[in-house]
Amino acid sequence: MYLTQGLQRALQRHPERIALTHLGDDGVRRHTWAALLKSVGRHAAALAKRGVRAGDRVAIVSPNDDRLVIAILACWWMGTVACPLNTRWAAPEREQALEDSGATVMLDADALAGLAVEAAKLEPMPDTRTGGDALAAILYTGGTTGKSKGVMLSHANFWTASMTRGAELNNSPQSLSLLVAPLFHVAGLGRLVGQSIVGGSCITMSQFRPASVLEAIAEHRITDTIVVPTMLQSLLDEPGFDATRVQSLDRIAFGAAPMPPDLLDRALETWPDAEFFQAYGLTETAGAVCINLPENHRGARRLLNSVGRAGLGAEILIVDESGNERPRGEVGEIVVRGPMVMRGYWNNPEATAAAFRDGWFRTGDAGRMDADGYLFIVDRLKDMIISGGENVYCAEVEAALRTHPQVAQAAVVGVPDARWGEAVHAVVVLMPGAAANEQQVTELRAWCRERLAGYKCPRSIAFVNALPLSAAGKVLKNVLREQARA
Ligand code: ATP
Repeated sequence: MYLTQGLQRALQRHPERIALTHLGDDGVRRHTWAALLKSVGRHAAALAKRGVRAGDRVAIVSPNDDRLVIAILACWWMGTVACPLNTRWAAPEREQALEDSGATVMLDADALAGLAVEAAKLEPMPDTRTGGDALAAILYTGGTTGKSKGVMLSHANFWTASMTRGAELNNSPQSLSLLVAPLFHVAGLGRLVGQSIVGGSCITMSQFRPASVLEAIAEHRITDTIVVPTMLQSLLDEPGFDATRVQSLDRIAFGAAPMPPDLLDRALETWPDAEFFQAYGLTETAGAVCINLPENHRGARRLLNSVGRAGLGAEILIVDESGNERPRGEVGEIVVRGPMVMRGYWNNPEATAAAFRDGWFRTGDAGRMDADGYLFIVDRLKDMIISGGENVYCAEVEAALRTHPQVAQAAVVGVPDARWGEAVHAVVVLMPGAAANEQQVTELRAWCRERLAGYKCPRSIAFVNALPLSAAGKVLKNVLREQARA
């Protein structure tokens, strides 16, 4: 198995169908399957002409567009390892990843444009048909919990992760998927893999601008997408949002961060006929290992906030600190085993050794599983607050704060506290017009106290205009912790 197999099949089945559309500020670029594959083969030839060989790492720094997609596919076509880097990184962070990956070339947006010109003059190179064990990508994790690590993902890792998802999501060649999650993150790249395996079409947009995304959904009748909760919120909050124009979206996958229950309710009302899937996974598992199916979103409310059961091919356990399975219903660390789990961290045997125990990958997430095998994410272990010896799970406090009518968004972190070890600190974005004053702090603390045990209630609350987000749209809790300590 190798990742370009699906492309070959799509070429045989429907060569003239549109495979890829880029909606750029400078216009729209469309590629049929026939044109796309020719271009991929030519880009591979252009890279080979620059001395790139199978097994080499190719670093790419570019916002989502058709050139980036073609470059990634060309890497797979010629058996090289794609290293799409975070476009938001500052120069030293990028340098570190470049050095760590040992990339032979670095392609930024300008270099990709140059490569396209050069490629147009060349004969396409044949597909090297790399085997499943070969590395397909090194994805650098990071941002939310600290120093970046290069996650080594093979063709087989991506393939099986895509099959796990596909078994539940029924992706089809008729689907038109919006690739707006960055391709340097597993959510975006995984979706590209999924679409290229089934021969479905993709639309890329370089930036997540809510108004343009809504316009694109309406104009192109996009059928599915994957979003992080913050993206969904900004779509629904967009002034002039008109639900009737975006009903073509019939499959909406979400994940990567906790979904606030009130936001999910709004989304379910906005798209009454759409199928919602909650997905849970990590870069290290090449994407989702758990999927909560649409019937659980509109059916039993008990399961609304579950991330579903272990997907096909994935095994999931909840374990204690020694790695022993915990009784059902009790909180412990989520561990995963299966063919989608990474091959390790690039150049980092210590981190790799620490990430596995008895063949199980340790996610670093706290969760519980009910008697029927439904998994509920409780918190990241690193984010969990221990206050006065009690465990406080941020997501629970955040959910309580969000139910207050004056609160738009909330993030909770632990800050050092002389008496309690750690204290609960909340950072809140208020609704427009709400007063950010001491009275509001008292009101919000009282609100929490009515809903939560005293030790879970925020001891301090800061008001901000916006929460710091990673490129994938996740709240950067390390930044909030630093700000709270400053
Ligand atoms: P790091 O700083 O550790 O690299 P990251 O956010 O960059 O963090 P990813 O691999 O992108 O790392 O994200 C994986 C994490 O996202 C999971 O460990 C989990 O904490 C969180 N996550 C993923 N899906 C969900 C979900 N459906 N609900 C809640 N949290 C989720």
